[in-house]
Amino acid sequence: MSHLYIHIPFCATKCPYCDFFSLATRKWHSSFAQAVLVEARLRSAEYNNPIRTVYFGGGTPSFPETSEIELMLSGIKKYFTISPEAEITLEANPDDISSEKLQAWLLMGINRLSIGVQSFSDNDLQYLGRRHNASKAKTAIEEAQKAGFNNISIDFIHGIPGSTLEIMMNNIEMAAEMRIQHLSMYSLTVEEGTALNKHILQGKSDNIVEDFQAEMYLKSCEKAEEMGFIQYEISNFCIPGFESVHNGSYWKGAPYIGLGPSAHSFDGKKRRWNNSDLIAYMKGAEKGKIPFDCEILSASDKYNEYLLTRLRLTEGISFREMEKQFGVAAVDEFRKNIEHHSNPEYFVLECNSLSLSRSGQLLSDGIIASLMKG
Ligand code: SF4
Repeated sequence: MSHLYIHIPFCATKCPYCDFFSLATRKWHSSFAQAVLVEARLRSAEYNNPIRTVYFGGGTPSFPETSEIELMLSGIKKYFTISPEAEITLEANPDDISSEKLQAWLLMGINRLSIGVQSFSDNDLQYLGRRHNASKAKTAIEEAQKAGFNNISIDFIHGIPGSTLEIMMNNIEMAAEMRIQHLSMYSLTVEEGTALNKHILQGKSDNIVEDFQAEMYLKSCEKAEEMGFIQYEISNFCIPGFESVHNGSYWKGAPYIGLGPSAHSFDGKKRRWNNSDLIAYMKGAEKGKIPFDCEILSASDKYNEYLLTRLRLTEGISFREMEKQFGVAAVDEFRKNIEHHSNPEYFVLECNSLSLSRSGQLLSDGIIASLMKG
């Protein structure tokens, strides 16, 4: 089985903290949809397994006309075999959600929405420069549920300067009360080159406080579990049975194809990423040549990626599976590294598996890097 990602590089406005590839424009939506179909045709032979998940991410896939999304989805079905039970997700911003759009998405086969709520606090939303307020976020969720969506994920950002633990706890309680199936909770990061970074350097916005973010992460995990969500990945929680199949494919090393500028693809051996340039992408499609870069993964790259992705999952690394992929010597060496690690409290070691403890999850990037091959 393979997985398909389509990057929609348009947003109504650019949020100050965002470093995803997207342009705040209403131009080119239609020519972009055509270019995606050209890329789908050009690359259909690369992946001939049935497609188990389709994911419209961005950018803001809820921003273009539903007819553009439908054109892409129906066109893609000509070039790829989409499994009849495919999970088909669309990322949506609350301010775009209307009953007309919801009906159109349902009719074209979208069966999962990932709604960028970020917080149910207007102060948090103002800091983030979001276009919606808390009341619009709630109405958007209710409308989606009324329309018939029964697999909804919402995103929260924690550690926002000026926010409080109480606000975050209230966010999670609200998600549970609204019977949301899936939560993604990320810490706010300040990326170089973003407007937020500039505002902080100029003293116009408060900076993030790492200790506060860490405390909020730990409390949020506990609260989510108390409210009936299970944690299955460092930043992802769901009610049982509603794990994201699409994102799970990344963490489990399954092949996926990414269409659109900046989209990544992986076939098990090679990683490829389209250039982050919309005009070059559309011109490339006209000439039948999409601009991209790629790298063939070495044996140690594959091993490092394996650690990086599997240790994000709460199920962690299965030694049997690791042995199948990398051999007995690799497992022995890995186990020795863990046994001699200076912070054993970061790991949960069982007979056949190893995962990160919650304190380990908090510092996962550094811990995983310390276990990688050079
Ligand atoms: S809507 Fe999402 S993708 Fe668009 S600018 Fe804001 S955070 Fe970035």
